[in-house]
Formats: sequence, structure tokens, C-alpha cells
Amino acid sequence: MTKKRRTGGGGGGGAEGGMVKVGGLGSRKPRSGKKRSLQTRSKTTWLLMAGGSCLAVFVMFLFYQHLATSSDRDVSTASGKAWTLSDEQLIALSKDTSMRYFKNELLEPLMVVRPVGSENHKKARQHIRTTLESLGWHVETDTFTDSTPLGRKTFHNIIATWDPSARQRVIFAAHYESKLFLKGPHKNFIGAIDSAVPCAILLDLARSLTPLLRTRTRALGTTPQLVFFDGEEAFENWTAKDSIYGARHLASKWAATRVHAGKGRRSPTMLESIECLVLLDLLGAKNPTIHSAFPNTHFLHRRMATMEQRLVSLDLITRQPSSFFNTNYAGRAPAVEDDHIPFVRRGVPVLHLITVPFPREWHTAGDDATILDDDVMLNWILIVRAFAAEYLHLDPTRA
Ligand SMILES: [Zn+2]
Repeated sequence: MTKKRRTGGGGGGGAEGGMVKVGGLGSRKPRSGKKRSLQTRSKTTWLLMAGGSCLAVFVMFLFYQHLATSSDRDVSTASGKAWTLSDEQLIALSKDTSMRYFKNELLEPLMVVRPVGSENHKKARQHIRTTLESLGWHVETDTFTDSTPLGRKTFHNIIATWDPSARQRVIFAAHYESKLFLKGPHKNFIGAIDSAVPCAILLDLARSLTPLLRTRTRALGTTPQLVFFDGEEAFENWTAKDSIYGARHLASKWAATRVHAGKGRRSPTMLESIECLVLLDLLGAKNPTIHSAFPNTHFLHRRMATMEQRLVSLDLITRQPSSFFNTNYAGRAPAVEDDHIPFVRRGVPVLHLITVPFPREWHTAGDDATILDDDVMLNWILIVRAFAAEYLHLDPTRA
């Protein structure tokens, strides 16, 4: 579990008192104390101040634009080679779906207390590895140690790649460990939505895409890759150093690793070869709301929203009280701290599928099987699957 922080906006709840708000209109100090002194100023001072304010606003605007785009790499070419699955293809893609299999075989082994270093953590890792290896994916474990408030710990990110020789990658990721509560009412924290269900959705994605990847006739040069981050949660309180251990390690390692070792300096880094990182978190409970936080992946957010609508209209998923996707922010929703941060900072395009505000049960013992909703999980499974199939130009009617 994590102390996730928003850089603005509201919402939240849970054991740690919800998300931390930073900045925003609500944090401005009262200005009444200045009012009287302003009235005595000369006209010239007023003009200077007005000009200065305009300049300040303009500079702030430029800075905002810079923040919004500086970390952005243009991904319009990623899946920009437009590809839309037909109704027939969507129906074929949705056929092979059993919630019983999903829950019993993919999700159940993750529904345990599994903090970093525990026996259950190891079992969860083995479950992920075995499932992906048996499907024929290339699986590696990125093992490293780092110091934490509870001493030195060993972490293991799991990276599964369909085609390790591909030049480009689209990553689907989630964190697989559960937050540690040493004592207190939440010590049996399972983290069903945080992030057992997101991990199971990724396993299902691998299971359903594998036959399509085998029969793929159009080589795009882009491989799907699944990353299961370790150590997302803080051991104590969420800080820059006590959180996202696995993501920080992997982003920094990939920034220094070339795709083709020994082939000169022209080979891109592993980080540069990522077209997009799709990060899933806090999914599986009713009424999720996913905002669009990055301008350069807003078109992918829109594609997911469209896919949800199409699946509903084809009766392949159930209509929910409202769409999972809120498109109002159009790529400018306040960002939430999570595993994507070290990647965003290095310019990797990110689509963050996290529900905001966080569910009430976030980081409480209540985040267990009782808050999971079968229809919502099925919708997520099919939305993510169809999105990935479309992105990768797969043809479900061929498998
Ligand atoms: Zn968490």
C-alpha cells in the first residue's frame, strides 16, 4: 500500500487520512490584510504592479505549459498507425472469458498478505512467473537491495516480454507486493485493489493475447511487456525515498541500458524504447473514475473510453452507473504519485489507470475480496484486453 499524493485536487480517505493536497486555489492565504495599504498607492505603482502581475501570470502559464509537456515524448506515432477492431473482432476477443478462472486461478494466489520479503511475497512472485513462463513469455527478475526505514531490503521486479528482440515496447504494469502493517487494525491488509486485481488483469492480458501474438501477421516492431513492480508501498510514511523502490530502480537502470548492447551509441536506451507505460492501480471495486493526467497520452485515454462505450453497446460488458473514464481534464488532471513517476520524469509517456478519489477502503483492512465487483472486474479485463489488441494490431478472429 502506499501513501499516494496528489499534486492538487481533492478526494481520498483511508487509514492514512487520504491523499496529501499540495498547492491549489484552496491553499492561498487570505489577502484581506493587504487591502488597505493597496488603496494608498500611486497610479504609477498600480500600473507597474498590474504589468508585473500580467507578466507573472504569463510566466506561470509558460511554466505550466513546460511542466505539462517537458516530460512528454510525442506518442502520437505509437499506435498512431490507426487500427480499429471491428465489432466481429471485439466479439471474438471477448469470447474466451471466464470470471471463475480469473478469480480462482489468476487472482486467488495474490489475495494474501504479501509484504516485501515475506513467504507470501515470494509465492506471489512465483505465481506470476510461472503463469507467464507457461504461456511462453520471456520472464526476468530484476533483483536489487535498497535501504528502507526498516533496514536493508531485497526487492524483485518481474519483467515479462513477449518478444525481447523487438525495438519498441508498450508496457502494462502494476505493483505486486502489499503494504506492510506491522500492527493495528490493518495488519491483515491484503490489498485486493492495491494491487492484486490489477496484477491478475495483467496475467489475464497475457493469457488472452498470447494466441493472438502467435498468429500476428503484421510485424509492428512493438512488443507488449508486463512489469510487476516490487516495493511500491512505503514501509513507514510515503516520501521520495520511502516509496516506489522497484520503479525507481528500474527506471534508472533502463536509462543506462542500451537496447542493443555493443552496437554503438546510436542504439536507444531501454527507456527510450518504451512507447507508453500503462500503469494500473486501485482497480476492482465499484464506480472507478479514471482521469486523464498527461496531454501526450490523452488520445489513449480517449481510446479506452471509446472502447468501453463500444463494448457496452455490443453487450459484451455491463453498463455501469457512469463511465470509468472522466475526460473533462483532457490530459491535465492533477497527477497522483505512483510507480510511473520516475518514468514520467525521464520522459516516458504514461497512461495512469488509477481511480481518483481513492476508494474509502484504500489502505485499510477493508481492501479485501468484499469490495471487489465481478462486473467491474470483467469490464476492466475486456477494456484493457481490447485496448492492447488494438494497440498491437492483433486480429482476434485469426486465433
Ligand atoms: Zn497502496
